[in-house]
Amino acid sequence: MTTPLVKDLVALIAQEGPISIERYMALSLSDPRYGYYMTRDPLGTRGDFITSPEISQVFGELLGLWCGECFRLMGAPESFMLVELGPGRGTLMADALRVLKIVPGFLDGAEIHLVETSPVLRKMQETTLAPLGRPITWHASIDTLPTKPAIVLANEFFDALPIRQYQKEAQGWHERLVGLDDDHTLILGLSAEPAAHLAALKADEGSVYEEARIAATIMRSLARHLRSYGGVMLTVDYGHSQSGMGDTWQALSQHQFIDPLLRAGEADQTSHVDFQKLSESAQAGGAVPSSIITQRDLLLRLGLEPRMQQLTRGNPDRSYDITKACLRLIDHTSPQAMGQLFKALAISHPNFGPIPAFDAPSS
Ligand code: SAH
Repeated sequence: MTTPLVKDLVALIAQEGPISIERYMALSLSDPRYGYYMTRDPLGTRGDFITSPEISQVFGELLGLWCGECFRLMGAPESFMLVELGPGRGTLMADALRVLKIVPGFLDGAEIHLVETSPVLRKMQETTLAPLGRPITWHASIDTLPTKPAIVLANEFFDALPIRQYQKEAQGWHERLVGLDDDHTLILGLSAEPAAHLAALKADEGSVYEEARIAATIMRSLARHLRSYGGVMLTVDYGHSQSGMGDTWQALSQHQFIDPLLRAGEADQTSHVDFQKLSESAQAGGAVPSSIITQRDLLLRLGLEPRMQQLTRGNPDRSYDITKACLRLIDHTSPQAMGQLFKALAISHPNFGPIPAFDAPSS
């Protein structure tokens, strides 16, 4: 099935030649007219995918408590910013702010900054957060964030950033490019030029290597920010703790995986996050990364069980649904289950000390 964006992409490639997967993903997700995130709310059971904050309010509440604890460890700064990258419908932020009311001083000092490119989702965030009656500043990128201490949250943000892919051939690595076949249908091909910067990378022929340059740049900049002005960041996403080979580029439409070359602009496109690389980028920017843990460990350490029990006691008629949703977040019965597939990484200013939920406090 063709889409208006596929037509544009075919015309672009016919004119300019094959394009990188990075450019293909960027246009598919963020083309101002037809980009996936520019035109719709992708979330929820009737959307294309569902995320942890949309599954249970407990997710945002526990991350809120984490922010509160970090605020205390930062010495309760009088002025700082609470930042979220890619806030979706604003659900995580709303749930977090609700629990942060109980942390003395937090809301007095916090400025709320949301980094969001989608006009549709910005509107939803505005609606979700309006009842809190607090000023909110939106940013198209992290570059315009004010120079202040920061507590930063990012759930399922890095997976949405475009990546490049390379394939190992007998003579070396070649970038995978999106081109056209004789019928003017989008197909994957390989660049004729070998990728010189990967010459030393060893792998079997046919292996695919992914490079998330945009994610690395954003992580390095955030790390520099924390290093300069203080603070912490927590990121949760699906992906792997150790770098490796493999093709993780995927497209989702109505909760089903489809070929990413089909329906550009109308299906979500993502890749799995390489947490080892993210952690290295944070270090390169001068921040200190935590260990990488599973979402299950993160949420259990933040007190998922007592919070779930408190909620079910307060809402006995919804007890089954509440329990089911919470258990889904920490499910580790298969590698694809959320508690195991999703990982968490925190980074901080070098003087911050042990990061709550990640690192054992030094005695
Ligand atoms: N964090 C939310 C939404 C995840 S979907 C949740 O957990 O429910 C990815 C989010 O990142 C969306 O809000 C999308 O619009 C936003 N996004 C994607 N690319 C972005 C970019 N380059 N800069 C800022 N936001 C981006």
